[in-house]
Amino acid sequence: MAFDLARLCADNTAFLDRRGRGEGLLIGGSWHAASGGETFATLDPATGVETARIAAAGPGDVDAAVAAARSALPGWKATVPVERARILWAIADLIEANIDALAELETLDQGKPLFVGRWAEIPGAVNQFRFFAGQAMAIEGNTIDSSIAYQPEGKQVRSWTRREPVGVVAAIVPWNSPLVLTAMKLAPAFAAGCTIVLKPAEDTSLTALRLGELMHEAGLPPGVVNIVTGTGAATGAALASHPGVNKIAFTGSTATGRAVLDAAKTDFKRVTLELGGKSPTIVMPDADLDLAVPGVANAIFFNGGQVCIAGSRLYAHRAVHDRVVEGVAAYAAGLRMGHGLDAETQMGPVVSARHAERVEGFLTRARADGAEVVCGGERSGDAGTFISPTVLAGVHADMEIVREEVFGPVLVVQPFDDVDEVVAAANDSQFGLAASVWTESLSHAHRMSDAIHAGTVWINCHAMYDAALPIGGIKQSGWGRDSGRQALDSYLEWKTVCAVL
Ligand code: NAD
Repeated sequence: MAFDLARLCADNTAFLDRRGRGEGLLIGGSWHAASGGETFATLDPATGVETARIAAAGPGDVDAAVAAARSALPGWKATVPVERARILWAIADLIEANIDALAELETLDQGKPLFVGRWAEIPGAVNQFRFFAGQAMAIEGNTIDSSIAYQPEGKQVRSWTRREPVGVVAAIVPWNSPLVLTAMKLAPAFAAGCTIVLKPAEDTSLTALRLGELMHEAGLPPGVVNIVTGTGAATGAALASHPGVNKIAFTGSTATGRAVLDAAKTDFKRVTLELGGKSPTIVMPDADLDLAVPGVANAIFFNGGQVCIAGSRLYAHRAVHDRVVEGVAAYAAGLRMGHGLDAETQMGPVVSARHAERVEGFLTRARADGAEVVCGGERSGDAGTFISPTVLAGVHADMEIVREEVFGPVLVVQPFDDVDEVVAAANDSQFGLAASVWTESLSHAHRMSDAIHAGTVWINCHAMYDAALPIGGIKQSGWGRDSGRQALDSYLEWKTVCAVL
């Protein structure tokens, strides 16, 4: 798993020299160290080697970042839509031009195999900026014919609505897919005319800082985006409760989502929450198994299962159950694990030692509860934070491993006999983020996608993301949607104007 940092591309070496020594707070268009001078280490999860030191923003730094965002707001919201669109498109072009270096940086910081960033996530970030460049020019209110009984005689009433930016947005993001999840907040907020204070996750700040540089190169005015790095408990909490913030756009765990909601309630900040999941994948007896088996395996093992919409509960019809389980276990056994920057690697480490211990805890308790290990189930490698791809059978609905989000490469599998039974099992969850149904039957596809309680249902595929497709959850998977027109709406307020003429 050894990887020599000297192999990094020249752009990233230069970037780490500039921003990797604790001078990475972006406030009002310039870069600063934390006012208290504090920093923390960020590690390569595949080796445990320190790659950079990140500034730990304190409350004073958060104040300064929010003040910079507030003072940039009037100018940015008055910018003509085509100018906002032009800058968003320029950001997309610069991400694309730097895509190889950004993918390398993301892998170094997060551990994911290079291809995940290079071919899936970072192109997704580019598309976010392009989609919302278009949306910036399509913001519209409407006219309303009213029936007000007490309007002055001989006068007419004209009423209309306008959309206005919510204001200063605190964007708080997790570590699993840092750049694309950041783009999913920034692009619609910029399009709407909002200004932002971004807090990346403490384990993965690097691509956010590089994006900060690229956004200014693209012509984003100073203060429209500000970046404060640091822990959730200090920097994140100070930002979420800051009185100068109008909206919190949060992606992360359900537990932290609750803390964010608490912080928002004092002054009724707008809140969108993209939270956890325990998404079912359902293989019907009429499924095309050549498609379904690698599909459900990839749904859990892609990015080491560190995906909010990971298909972590597999339900296979009894008629095909054994073939599906054997196929998924063979797929898992064939996955090459290693440093994400090695071209052969198909699955990297989990993001940190703390997270690896958390995943191991779930595995230990699952075994104690009676789960049978079909494959995996343990740490792997001498260094880094690798967990073998794991399939667990012999589980039942009330076990922790079936109910709670592990956020690692761990799949639980259960057989079923009929549609009503599997829909009830799929819906028996505190979460409602996503699901997939694998079937050749048009009737099953439609009826089951209606009956499943989830923000997204995929048919014969899983995790098909697009900037135009709203994504988000019901139940404890969150409030609101990222992506799509719905995301833009969540960064806009309605204003009603009523005139007597
Ligand atoms: P997390 O909740 O621990 O942290 C998310 C972010 O919140 C980080 O930046 C963290 O520093 C910050 N934070 C922590 N405590 C805070 C506080 N008290 N106030 C303000 N900010 C605080 O989540 P994580 O472990 O980084 O990410 C994994 C979770 O994210 C999983 O549950 C996953 O399902 C979820 N997720 C959801 C989606 C989605 O679209 N629904 C997408 C990706 C990840």
